[in-house]
Amino acid sequence: GAPVDVPALVIGTGYGGSVAALRLALAGHRVTMLEMGQEWNRPGHDGRVFARMTEPDERSMWLRRRTAMPISHLTGVPLDRPIKLGAGVLDRVDFAAMGVYCGVGVGGGSLVNGGMAVRPRRDYLAEVMPGLPLDDFFARHLPLAERELGVNHVTEALLEASPYYQYARLGRDTAQASGRRVVPVPNVYDFAYLEQEAAGQAPGSATANEVIFGNNHGKRDLTKTYLARARATGLVTVQAATRASGIERAGDAFVVRAEMLTADGTVSGTVVYRAPRVFLAAGSLGTTELLLRSRAAGGLTGLSEELGFGWGPNGNTMLGRANHVWQPTGARQSTIPVLGIDNWAYATGQDRVFAEIAPFPAGIDTYLSLYLAITASASRARLSWDATAGRMILDWTRAHAAASVTAVRRTFDAINAKQGSTYRVDLFGSDRTFSDHFTYHPLGGCVLGTVTDRAGRVRGQGGLYIVDGSLAPGSLGVNPFLTITALAEQIMETVLAEDLRS
Ligand code: FAD
Repeated sequence: GAPVDVPALVIGTGYGGSVAALRLALAGHRVTMLEMGQEWNRPGHDGRVFARMTEPDERSMWLRRRTAMPISHLTGVPLDRPIKLGAGVLDRVDFAAMGVYCGVGVGGGSLVNGGMAVRPRRDYLAEVMPGLPLDDFFARHLPLAERELGVNHVTEALLEASPYYQYARLGRDTAQASGRRVVPVPNVYDFAYLEQEAAGQAPGSATANEVIFGNNHGKRDLTKTYLARARATGLVTVQAATRASGIERAGDAFVVRAEMLTADGTVSGTVVYRAPRVFLAAGSLGTTELLLRSRAAGGLTGLSEELGFGWGPNGNTMLGRANHVWQPTGARQSTIPVLGIDNWAYATGQDRVFAEIAPFPAGIDTYLSLYLAITASASRARLSWDATAGRMILDWTRAHAAASVTAVRRTFDAINAKQGSTYRVDLFGSDRTFSDHFTYHPLGGCVLGTVTDRAGRVRGQGGLYIVDGSLAPGSLGVNPFLTITALAEQIMETVLAEDLRS
């Protein structure tokens, strides 16, 4: 059919997309957002919008007949189970040696993530993103992002006394016993609500095993913050279950083709949009894939040769330690982490580690201490288009993760030595103690200042912008969404001032 003409199109409704939509709308521009996942606002058969981590179903994973859990085994028993195929909220994209988890739905990664909103280190940003105007970034864009996202801190009562944070206290005490520094980790989960649910006065979410398949309560995901504000302007339309499949330059505008999807992911039709301004916010994988695919199809020419480069998993490395029987981690555990082990004050180079003390809510005491470490790994890989297979590939190998594993080992060998404890070797299948094969934090592919200029403008494509995690250079040293949000704020400020002045 004839293209639908819209003034501004935003592809993706995660952090970058939500910032772009809000700032465009507040400046008076009409915005259409395309999102391949569902609008998560209708209760399912059990009265809940999202399924619990421990009771997966067709709401849990994106187009899979079997779950693909980060922790795949426990004491030799595989944990994944068959589920009904559905357009669920958590995707795992499997490349040759790397599985990438992404949130899918209106709200993107904010629906599934752990809510940790950590400021990046200024010296590290200067190292990995030279040219970023850091004074402004730290003085204005980060604080703005924190306010809009509703970042808050765990209360003393929860951290020091709640049974739901026994695992965090043990993780802290065992780390400090080895001279490791432990720091608080801010979050967008409402800790006042967490206090209520822990006291049995409100429906449980963090205290009821909800996180990677969505939180039914408590978490200030983007649908409650940026997207709510954007929609309240009356200028923003969100088309859910609509997946952009190609972009073509057409004179002064772009033609964007999209597929409409049913609840089991079948393509039920297509729709074509034409817009003079398109903001790519489909995440590191989504945005890079759209550009690679559109270039291969001939729709976009003259894109930077650096498209696809600079990809990394933010040094993500998960591990578990086995505690002694006198060190219980608790049968009840909040899914929202609040503490991290941080060696950045005394480590250098690729040995720098920031490890969140993570929950493992099993309903029984497992004596397992779980950690998700983020290292300053310098390994980068390349996303490219495999024309024969008609899909995107990633040349990451297991060797790329070796530096992260070494750094993590240094930190946790010391804790094990002091405690007389050992690693859990049963969590990721038989051939690995450290998870060097998956990430929650895909970053890069369209690195700021290479594929785009400093303001996210795609080089050689006036009117096309990138505002998401694909801009970050494979490593940020901390959990990424706060940085991505602030970066999008900085970009939108420049774009609105310089390109969209009416
Ligand atoms: P995303 O938030 O990924 O949004 C992209 C959106 O685009 C998605 O909704 C997707 O469905 C949509 N999309 C993709 N392709 C298309 C297409 N072709 N057409 C239409 N729509 C499309 N980070 C933290 O900082 N703290 C945490 O505690 C944390 N925990 C995490 C836990 C888990 C389980 C996971 C998976 C991630 C976690 N992250 C965390 C990472 C964080 O969520 C991401 O870094 C962040 O969401 C990336 O933001 P983004 O704007 O780049 O893209």
